[in-house]
Amino acid sequence: MKRALITGVTGQDGAYLAKFLLAKNYEVFGLLRRSGSADIIDERLRWLGIAGQVGMLDGNLTDLSSLIRIMQEVKPDEVYNLGAQSFVKSSWNQPILTGMVTGMGTTNMLEAVRIAAPKARFYQASSSEMYGLIQQSPQNESTPFYPRSPYAVSKLYAHWTTVNYRESFGLHASSGILFNHESPLRGIEFVTRKVTDAVARIKLGLTQELELGNLDAQRDWGHASDYVRAMWLMLQQETPGDYVVATGRTTSVRDMCRIAFAHVGLDWQKFVKTSQAFLRPAEVDLLLGDASKARTVLGWQPQIPLEAMIAEMVDADLERHRKRSA
Ligand code: GDP
Repeated sequence: MKRALITGVTGQDGAYLAKFLLAKNYEVFGLLRRSGSADIIDERLRWLGIAGQVGMLDGNLTDLSSLIRIMQEVKPDEVYNLGAQSFVKSSWNQPILTGMVTGMGTTNMLEAVRIAAPKARFYQASSSEMYGLIQQSPQNESTPFYPRSPYAVSKLYAHWTTVNYRESFGLHASSGILFNHESPLRGIEFVTRKVTDAVARIKLGLTQELELGNLDAQRDWGHASDYVRAMWLMLQQETPGDYVVATGRTTSVRDMCRIAFAHVGLDWQKFVKTSQAFLRPAEVDLLLGDASKARTVLGWQPQIPLEAMIAEMVDADLERHRKRSA
């Protein structure tokens, strides 16, 4: 039985990845950051029906000693570093914490692997946000980076540290440059989920409007359950490497709203307002990924189209709100 350790296991990707690995008969362990909300911490794992099947270990990405101890205890074959302060807008409010967790946390993980589990294969969750002010379109593995937020700067540091540890110490360390990926388990602060949650509440008569920021931003949105498969495939290769994971289709926030409202028969224009409060100090206008390398080398391709994903998200939010008000 293979053993996998996942940081960020209570997040969207961690939960889908844990489910994917359990189905492949892995023994799955997760790093659990101590917090006061222990009762709701495994909400996503519960939603996927796998609560209790992941071994939770008390530790923190900013505490190297905890990571070394966990590596010694778990003796993982594969390590997936998905933990981060992952919300771009908050990274301007908490730039130092974002740097410590998203950036330095990765160095801590790589050090723990190097010291205590040097044979383990390592996956780093890199991000299309690293392209920021895009230098060419579509973006592939050799497109120059130009990060536009403390989050993206931190992710870029983590990405290059992963590459450096691979080249310096021969670690089997891979970096997946994942474009935005969503699901019913996406955090409510991200735009797709914010929209699908509002569509559900509007449909049920619980609210009348939705305030958003920049409707012109365009994103290459895929489904998280497709994307965790790419993570695993990277670690099954003989040689580690860096891979863009994307759908190759970009959609504006405006069109995504149209799709979500239309799913329940509503016209988005009647409900969506814009507000300065949701604009960012610097914006990433357009992301569009070229995942040719992942397709050719990993044999990976996405299976769930945007419309089906948005429909799944709206339906899940409708069910959540119906249950809550029942
Ligand atoms: P990101 O690409 O990691 O920042 O993912 P988000 O889902 O947070 O944002 C995607 C895009 O939607 C960005 O360009 C945002 O500026 C834009 N957007 C427009 N209105 C909103 C909003 O109300 N909330 C969020 N989170 N994003 C918004």
